[in-house]
Amino acid sequence: GSLSVAELAEKLRKESAEIIKKLMGMGVMATKNEELDVTTIQLLCEDFGVEVEEEEIVDVLDMDLYEEEDAPADLGVRPPVVTIMGHVDHGKTTLLDAIRKTKVTDTEAGGITQHIGAYQVEENGKKVTFLDTPGHAAFTTMRARGAQVTDITILVVAADDGVMPQTVEALNHAKAAEVPIIVAVNKMDKENANPDRVMQELTEHQLVPEAWGGETIFVNVSAVKGEGIDELLEMILLVSEVEEFKANPDKRAQGTVVEAELDKGRGPVATLLVQNGTMNVGDPIVVGNTFGRIRAMVNDLGRRVKTAGPSTPVEITGLSDVPQAGDQFLVFEDEKKARQVGEGRQARAKEAERKQSSKVSLDDLFNQIQEGELKEINVIIKADVQGSAEAVKGSLEKIDVEGVKVNIIHTAVGAISESDVILASASNAIIVGFNVRPDVNAKRTADSEKVDVRLHRVIYDAIEEIESAMKGMLDPEF
Ligand code: GDP
Repeated sequence: GSLSVAELAEKLRKESAEIIKKLMGMGVMATKNEELDVTTIQLLCEDFGVEVEEEEIVDVLDMDLYEEEDAPADLGVRPPVVTIMGHVDHGKTTLLDAIRKTKVTDTEAGGITQHIGAYQVEENGKKVTFLDTPGHAAFTTMRARGAQVTDITILVVAADDGVMPQTVEALNHAKAAEVPIIVAVNKMDKENANPDRVMQELTEHQLVPEAWGGETIFVNVSAVKGEGIDELLEMILLVSEVEEFKANPDKRAQGTVVEAELDKGRGPVATLLVQNGTMNVGDPIVVGNTFGRIRAMVNDLGRRVKTAGPSTPVEITGLSDVPQAGDQFLVFEDEKKARQVGEGRQARAKEAERKQSSKVSLDDLFNQIQEGELKEINVIIKADVQGSAEAVKGSLEKIDVEGVKVNIIHTAVGAISESDVILASASNAIIVGFNVRPDVNAKRTADSEKVDVRLHRVIYDAIEEIESAMKGMLDPEF
């Protein structure tokens, strides 16, 4: 998924030649059919003084950029999403179970609660969503993947144990994410419970209780006895009112994957947390690097539902592959587009993976040379004209880094073909394409065979890239 020069020209209402000229100015030789990446498209648009309609690029290329401002009038209150963190054995799991148990009656649940990675409870007619995986590891993994899911953190501290190393870690994670913290002082039923000590110790970490003139809410609870749960929920709702968590229910849904797995019978299954918009059965959707159409939705009570609004977790089926926790999702208008974007993202993910683990990749060339594993680096050259092919060949053969030589095993004119890739794979070679590209079959085989294909338009660049790789000076790629 990307735009060609001609397609971009059409969108910008310019001639292709104008775009090609601009690209030349940027040192890029391109034809009308050249596929452009997002960065280049953005640069070109800036150059032409055109405001890029982000969503337009995003629909075709990348939903990471998707961020549409909602008009204040369209926004409605949504339930807070709460994560429970704290030191091991301080009672996170017990508290999550207690909240669920006290708040969900058996008749409501039909006797069966589903563990789908998140659940919702009601307090005074208002909903609260809890993420069911306690601990800051999950929280931060998601955050590292760009997902900001949590609105409020409950920091659980055992009253008989006080602040421990992971308590401090957890509160630092919450602070780094700028998520408000409510302290639940747990195990109050224990004889040696000492809530004052907890308050004192947390004050040293800038969590000053309201009772002492600070701003942090402390609630005493006993997860085992189910005491203090209502008060804790009320405090969560109080913080929510202050923070005003809002969303627009009247648009296509977007949000984050909470967890996902491959189910033997149902195929890929994912719990999605809707963060904005409303999701419906039948919606075409892109989730991380996969896509599909929502076949069925099941809520945390094990019931089939047809829609899911903001802050609602639902388990869905209908994806073509299993996404990862923390992946973002976005509902699309039509299935064709969802497929297009999904496949584009899949291809790019594969490309990234290939770069990481190709048999001979430029990126780890230096290491292999250092470890004496490599005495020769095999290269296949494909170019648009014979003259260029010869020129690239001549220059590459002159490279000599610490006695390691470039060995050209094949030189030819024309697009990179599948047989080039098979040859490269068999002989651990890198393919250098000069003013040519791999055809569809070659690209697919290169992906699966993990063959490193490097495309250039300037001879000097091709040579420099290989030389710096051999010297261990290649910029790391992420
Ligand atoms: P986590 O590691 O933070 O998830 O802690 P758990 O929920 O697994 O609890 C650790 C231990 O503390 C278990 O044996 C629980 O039964 C116990 N526990 C949890 N909450 C309470 C409580 O409120 N009172 C008492 N007495 N024990 C508790």
